[in-house]
Amino acid sequence: MNAPLMLHNCLLVLPETDARAPLSRGAVLIEDGRIAAVATGGGTAALASRAAEKIDLGGQVLMPGLVNAHCHSYANAMRGTENSLPLEQWALYTSAYGRSLSEEAIRVSILLGAAEMLRAGVTAVLDHFPHVARSDTALQAHHDTGMRVGFAPFMHDLHDHTILDVELPEELRRRVEGARRPTGEEYGALFRRLKKDWHGKDRRISIFLGPNAPQRCSNPLWRAWRDLAAELDLGAHTHLLETRPQSRAGKSKYQGGIVPEMKRRGVLNDRLSVAHGIWPTADERALLADHGVAVVHNPASNLMLGSGHMPLEDYRKRGVTIALGSDSANTGGRQDIFEIMRLAMMLHRPAITDPVRWPDAREALGWATQGGARVLCMAHELGRIEQGCRADLAVIDLGGAGMAALIPNLTALVQQGGPEAVTGTMVDGRWLYRDGKVLAFDEGAALTRFAALRAEIVARARDEVATADQAVGYFAGLAARA
Ligand SMILES: [Zn+2]
Repeated sequence: MNAPLMLHNCLLVLPETDARAPLSRGAVLIEDGRIAAVATGGGTAALASRAAEKIDLGGQVLMPGLVNAHCHSYANAMRGTENSLPLEQWALYTSAYGRSLSEEAIRVSILLGAAEMLRAGVTAVLDHFPHVARSDTALQAHHDTGMRVGFAPFMHDLHDHTILDVELPEELRRRVEGARRPTGEEYGALFRRLKKDWHGKDRRISIFLGPNAPQRCSNPLWRAWRDLAAELDLGAHTHLLETRPQSRAGKSKYQGGIVPEMKRRGVLNDRLSVAHGIWPTADERALLADHGVAVVHNPASNLMLGSGHMPLEDYRKRGVTIALGSDSANTGGRQDIFEIMRLAMMLHRPAITDPVRWPDAREALGWATQGGARVLCMAHELGRIEQGCRADLAVIDLGGAGMAALIPNLTALVQQGGPEAVTGTMVDGRWLYRDGKVLAFDEGAALTRFAALRAEIVARARDEVATADQAVGYFAGLAARA
C-alpha cells in the first residue's frame, strides 16, 4: 500500500462541472490507488492532515484520465502505410503489414502507442487485437506500460470477400485468406486460458471477447461468443456496421439486418460495446439502446476511410452510452483523444438545427471518460474524480501559449487541449508520465528498437503487400454497388 498522496492547488474537473463555469480550485487525496477524498475551497486543509506526501500542482488542471475505447495496437508500427482507400480495400494492406509483424514488433508497437497515449493524457485503452496467437506477448507489453487495458482478441473465421461476394481467383483467394483461423473450440481454450492468466492482473488488465465483426463469424463462432461470455463472465467488443457494403450484406444475409441477428443469437447486452455503428437502421439502433449496448465513435477513422457519419444525435436521443476511439494509427492517425473529442463535438453540429442540443465540451469529455469507463465495464469506479474511484488522472497545464484561457473552464480544456499541454498521467495513483518523461518504461529504448526493426518489417511484408496490390482491384467500387 502506498502512502497517502495529496495533489493540491489544482483546478478540478468534477462530474458536475459545467462547460462554461471556471473550474474549482481544490485537492484530491489518493490512497491505495483510489481517490480517498476530494475537497474544494476551505476543505483542502482537512485533506492535508491525512497526506504523507503533498504535490502542489501550481494551478494546473486535474482531470480524469482519458479512455481510448477502440484501437488496434499493432498498427502503431504501421504509420505511413496505405490510408487513402475505403475500409474493404484498406484492410488488405493493414492485414498484409499486420501479418508481417514479429512478436518483438508487436511488443514495440504497443509500447510506442502507450508512450503516445500517456503523453496525451490517456490512461486506459481498449485494444481490439487481431494476432490472437501473440496475445501473451501483447498482454505482457500492455502490463509493462502501467496503463489500464481492456484486451479483446479477435474472433473471426469468415473473410470479407466471401461476405461481400467479391470473387477472387482461387490462388489469390488462398493467399488473401492466409493461415487457417481458430475454430470455436480453439477460441474457447484460448479465452479460458487468457482469463485465468491475465484477467484482473494488478487490477489493470481485463480480457474481453473481441469478435472482429458479427458477419465475420460462422455459426460455431456466434455460439462461442454467446457461451464464452456467459461461462467466463466477460464483456465483449466488436466492430459493427462500419461501411455501406457491410450494411448491404447484413440486410441481405440476416432477417431484419445484423443487429436483430445479434439479438436472436443472444449477444446483445450491456457488457457489449460496438465500434463505429455508422450504418445500423433506426430499428437496429433502437435494439442497441434497448439492450444497453455502448457505441464507440471513431470520427477520425470514419472520415479517413470515407466510411460515413455516425448518427450521433439519434444515439444520444435514445440514451445510448457513447465512448470515443482513435481506431488504428494507420486510419485515425494520432491516438490523441483531445483531437477525437473535438471532432466528435464539431462534426455533428451542422446537422443539429437547435444549437441548444449541440454537444458541448462537458458532454464530449463525458464520452472520453465515463463513456470509456462503461466500455471497460468499470463505470462504477472509473472516469470521474470522485471518492472511491480509481486514481486514473491527467494533469494539464492551461498556462502555455495556445492554452492560456481567459476563463479556465472545460470549454478551454477540450477546445485547446492536446498532448503538448499534458504534464502528468497516472493510473491507480502511480505516475506513468511526468514532466516530459515516460516513467513506466523505457520509451527511448522502444523507439531505438523500432528504428532497428523497420527494414525487417517492410521486407517481411513484401509478398503480402504484393498480394494486396493484386487483390485490391477486385474490391473496387463496392460502395457504389446497388
Ligand atoms: Zn477498428
